[in-house]
Parts: sequence; structure tokens; C-alpha cells
Amino acid sequence: MKVIFEKSVPGRRGVRPARQEGCPPPEIGPRLLRDRPAELPELSELDVVRHFTELSRRNFGVDNGFYPLGSCTMKYNPKMAEQIAGYAGFSSLHPLLPQLPRGEMLVQGALAVLYEIDLALREICGMAAFTLQPLAGAHGELTGAMIIAAYHRDRGHRRTTILIPDSAHGTNPASAAIAGFEVQVIPSDSSGYMDVEALRAALSERVAGLMLTNPNTLGLFDPHIRQIADLVHSVDGLMYYDGANLNPLLGRCRPGDMGFDIVHVNLHKTFATPHGGGGPGAGPVGVGEKLVKYLPISLVGERPDGSDFLDDDRPSSIGYIAPFYGNFGILLRAYAYLLALGREGLRRVADNATLNANYVSEKLRPHYDLPYGGICKHECVFSARRQAEHGVRALDVAKALIDRGFHPPTVYFPLTVPEAMMIEPTETESKETLDAFIEAMIEIARLAETKPQEITRCPTTTVVGRLDEARAARQPDLASLK
Ligand SMILES: *Cc1c(COP(=O)(O)O)cnc(C)c1O
Repeated sequence: MKVIFEKSVPGRRGVRPARQEGCPPPEIGPRLLRDRPAELPELSELDVVRHFTELSRRNFGVDNGFYPLGSCTMKYNPKMAEQIAGYAGFSSLHPLLPQLPRGEMLVQGALAVLYEIDLALREICGMAAFTLQPLAGAHGELTGAMIIAAYHRDRGHRRTTILIPDSAHGTNPASAAIAGFEVQVIPSDSSGYMDVEALRAALSERVAGLMLTNPNTLGLFDPHIRQIADLVHSVDGLMYYDGANLNPLLGRCRPGDMGFDIVHVNLHKTFATPHGGGGPGAGPVGVGEKLVKYLPISLVGERPDGSDFLDDDRPSSIGYIAPFYGNFGILLRAYAYLLALGREGLRRVADNATLNANYVSEKLRPHYDLPYGGICKHECVFSARRQAEHGVRALDVAKALIDRGFHPPTVYFPLTVPEAMMIEPTETESKETLDAFIEAMIEIARLAETKPQEITRCPTTTVVGRLDEARAARQPDLASLK
């Protein structure tokens, strides 16, 4: 396929509506005018439509198939939320508009949205206040780690270390390190939970806090969570909750009640906003009462007359961590999703996410190893160990799924499971879709034993086959996707 510049023909143009009679051309000062034409491809409208439609067909997204990527929660993004985010009253706002009081509206509606998301997240997570600014889960982790640092600094503590389990997502140690902490890894026990004795042994006056996700990356809810929180608090460490796995807890239990002091929520996971190529995401961070004063500037406050305002007068704050108020359009979509579902709907999200994962887990258990068995929450982690004896590895299973029209699950994560395949169906999929996926996985397991080369030669239906991934990253050739 040619890149768009190769399709360019000098002088070819798209359709441009004629300027309306009596409408003067915009006045642009000479200083702002180009002195030579922009180097843009020249194409007809039809060429452009075909080019981008063809490109989109080579992509795989949640809009064209099942996407059971574990941990990342790739669920459907409802069009209802897109429509609301497109309302001109929101989409045409400028972040520097003055915050006039109620009655002189301008931005009161937007401020009310921010304020109400804050209230809803407080209730869902059991926290005292949220900042909506962080632009991703990982950015929320960094914000949280900075708050942990500020808390200990204020108390005159010298705390150097953040504890992280060996099953953690890679962003956890990365965020702690960027915030200036050393990372100490706590091993898991034979059931896949944090080894409480190892945690006890690691506790000291050096420990600033513990970062944990619960259910953990194996999809297992840690039954010792209260004990873990008590242990960490006994040395005045703080408990940080990685909210990437909040999905199965919605309306059922709250990180705050488990003993967590800080929480991030990935709106693009739990609240169905788009992920979009590394952004725009949103990772609001909530904290317990004693940490509210450290939250970033600005927080949305409410005046006695019911109008909302941005509160910048916060001397203990860690400061700005994102421009303006974060990804407002994403926050708005999450707000629409929250309101559409309501209290009962959110509970059904949690229940169906859990039901779907356990359905897949039960159906696939005879065909793939499930190293940590039992009831899972919203995701389950299989191992392709058995298939590997025939030369078919988790990566091969993933490629074979692509040929069958499914996005592969997360593979080789968490690191505690060899040949890991981490499946998160989410609550937005139908039983028919789950059954089709299960059937494909069973067929792949059968072929792995009988005709392994049928699996190891996949994918055969894609534009490119297996890439040399290191070379693709180091010497990318973006122009020759033939
Ligand atoms: C996705 C994820 C993160 C990071 O979140 P981003 O929004 O992608 O930055 C952290 N921890 C876990 C367990 C995750 O799944």
C-alpha cells in the first residue's frame, strides 16, 4: 500500500464549498501568512476517503472484534458517551474562560461535571477527594508517589523505599522510581497472593508505602488485604491502590474500606472511555482525609450558593501535574457512562465482568493449564506450558487467534506465570462472542497437539506476518507496508 504522499498528483483537489456571498475573507496579518505553500499531498476527496478507510481496515480495535487484553480492560466505548462529549456547550469551551458565578453560566456546567465526577468516584472508592488531572493510570501512579513523598517530608520522615509485589504491572516500579524512590519487590506465595511473611520482613522505617492492585494481575482478590494494610500502616507507610482492576469491585467493595490511602482510577478501563494509542486517557487520583491537602492544583470546590469554582489556594499541594483540568473530554465521557449506569448498573458491570471471566476460565480449564485455579474476578491467567511441550508457545497461540478474528490476550504477563495468557473478557461481551472465542482457543489447543506447525506459522491473514520486533522498533520503515 502506498503512503498518502505517493498518491499525490499536483493540482488535484478535494471539494471546497464556495465562500458565502457577503462573507469577507478572514483577516490574517502578513506576519502569519506562509511564504510558500504547505507540503501537503494533493488528492481528491474520494482518494482521501479510500486511503483512510483502507488503513482503518488494517487495524484491529474493540469496534471490529473481541479484544480480551488482560489487565488493560479493553471494553466497548458506548456511542452515547461520544455523543454527549460532542455537545457544543462542552466541546467549544476554552479552558481560560472566566469562572463566572451561577446565573452567568459560561463554564459552570463544565465545573459541575468535574465536581460531580469527584463526588461519584469518592463514593465508589471510599476516598475523601479526587484530582481529575492525571492523564493516564501511570501518570496517576506518579502523582500518588509524589503525594507519598510529600506526606513523609511533612512528617520529617526519611523514607526511601516503595514495596511492590512481583506480580505488579511495570508502570508501578517505574512510577515509584521516577518519584525518587527505591523499589523493593515482595514475592508472591504459592497461591498467587502477596507473601505476608515476606512483607513483614521487609517493613522498616525506610518504607514509604506499598503499591498494590486488588484483585491482583492474576485476577485474584487478596483475602489478606486488611492484614497487609495494617502491617504497612504500623510503620506509617501508605497504601497505594492501582485501580486498573477496579472493574469487578464497582458497587461491591471499596479500596478505602480495604485500608488504601491513595487510589488511581483508569477511566479508559473501568469507565469505558477510549484508550487511543497511549492517550488521551485519564487517571484520577483519590486520597484519604489526611492527604487531601497534597492533591494537585486545582481542585473543584463548591460555593455556598451552589456554584463551583477552581480552588488554587492550596499551599501544601504538590503543584500542577497536568495542564488545566486534565482530559476534560474523557472525563465527560466517563461521567456520562456513570450516570447512564447508575448505582445498580455499576454493580452489574462488576458482576458480569466477573461472571464472564469465570465462564471463560471454566470452559478453557480442561485445555490449558490454569496455574492459580479457583474463582477469579474479572480476568484469568492461563499458561501455554502444556502446548509448549509440542513447540507451541503463548506467542503462537496469540498469532493463531489473530487469524481467527480475535485480538490476542495479554501474553507473558504477569511475569510470575510462565507462558502466561491473561484473558479479560469484560462485561460488554455477549455469550455468543465468548463462545466463539472459547471454540477458537479449544481448536488451537487441539492443533497444538496434532499439527503444531499449523499454529506456529500464524498469522497468515494479516498484512504483515511476524516482525523482527527489535528491528521494527530500532529501524522503523513506516513507508513500506506493502
Ligand atoms: C493499565 C495498567 C496500568 C497503567 O495504566 P495506564 O492508564 O495504561 O497508564 C497500571 N497497572 C495495571 C495493573 C494496569 O493494567
